[in-house]
Amino acid sequence: MTTTVLGAGYAGVMAANRLAGRGEEVVLVTPNAWFVERIRLHRVATGLRENARLDLQTVLNPAVEVVQDTATEIGDDKIQLAAGENLPYDTLVYAVGSGTSDRNGACRIVSEEETERLRTALAEAPDAPVTIVGAGLTGVELAGALREAGRAVKLVSTAPDRRAIQAHLRFLARQGVEIELGRRVDPAGIDGLVVDTTGFTVPSLAADSGLPVDDLGRLLVDEQLTVPGHPNILGAGDAVHSSFRAACATALPMGAHVADVITARREGRAGKPFRMGYVLQCTDLGSGRGRVQFLHPDDTERAIAIDGRAGGLVKETICRMTVRWLSQERDRAGRYSWPAGA
Ligand SMILES: Cc1cc2nc3c(=O)[nH]c(=O)nc-3n(C[C@H](O)[C@H](O)[C@H](O)COP(=O)(O)OP(=O)(O)OC[C@H]3O[C@@H](n4cnc5c(N)ncnc54)[C@H](O)[C@@H]3O)c2cc1C
Repeated sequence: MTTTVLGAGYAGVMAANRLAGRGEEVVLVTPNAWFVERIRLHRVATGLRENARLDLQTVLNPAVEVVQDTATEIGDDKIQLAAGENLPYDTLVYAVGSGTSDRNGACRIVSEEETERLRTALAEAPDAPVTIVGAGLTGVELAGALREAGRAVKLVSTAPDRRAIQAHLRFLARQGVEIELGRRVDPAGIDGLVVDTTGFTVPSLAADSGLPVDDLGRLLVDEQLTVPGHPNILGAGDAVHSSFRAACATALPMGAHVADVITARREGRAGKPFRMGYVLQCTDLGSGRGRVQFLHPDDTERAIAIDGRAGGLVKETICRMTVRWLSQERDRAGRYSWPAGA
């Protein structure tokens, strides 16, 4: 039996490793011959880091067959690839992530390509101030990286309700970032170099293939991360609709869980519902500073946080751990575990 995994991000690589290490035949379809550490893209955009690429073999089990291509349509038992070939599958893992967009002409850092576009725009206008729209974690991390790179930065957003974000904004204001809160703006209506960090979009592959999707085009899955009416298609990561936050912290356990569901079914057992609990949310605020916000399993904030250089150090350690969790799973399937939900 062959499982085909679409997407070599955090969810896809985790699923592929966990299955391949258990003897499953796994085919991984990916447009790129490398793994992108998306959580580093704000530093790539600002020139603080050359790129966010890792050789696939650093994180991927060598038993996984890699097909370098893009899936353009999903059928009942085969996938249409951009190069023209049809790829048959027994089980499919949909893990195409998020990051495509061109909604309003503003720059974005949701994908490698868009990050490169912002990097070029910044290089072409070295003295231009930058306006960031959106005070989510991406906007905050980008603002910190831009200040570290010596840029004048303005951050415009609706008022954030999370305490951690409010703390980030106070920190950024002290670093010289101009903060304007309380109004919803259209990035297209702002002059100059604008970066839109409000929300994200997902590839339209599931919708184009007639699979059930939500309003944002995210694949609908049940508690076992399986598409209703399509028992051989499972989904993980940003590209699926779930009650969990779109995050690398969610994509890794989801990727592991779909592998566990597939293994259970192969062995004649029923798969378990997906459960997870959050522990930390870490933010890079630039210049080696960061914040580690402790969380309740349901993602609400605890009263404890680590700030400053210590916070920056923990954040960097967690970023490295994400890659380490994947390579450990490459070397020993089933090793990765995650906190249970409430
Ligand atoms: C700047 C930035 C900072 C972030 N910081 C954090 C953080 O600190 N903590 C955190 O938890 N999360 C963070 N995130 C979010 C995190 O990066 C995403 O939630 C995570 O990457 C989702 O993993 P994924 O596997 O679902 O998708 P991805 O990592 O996006 O991988 C999807 C893969 O699918 C491939 N693909 C797409 N379409 C197709 C197709 N048709 N056929 C084949 N392959 C396809 C893509 O090329 C990509 O490689 C950050 C994101 C950004 C942009």
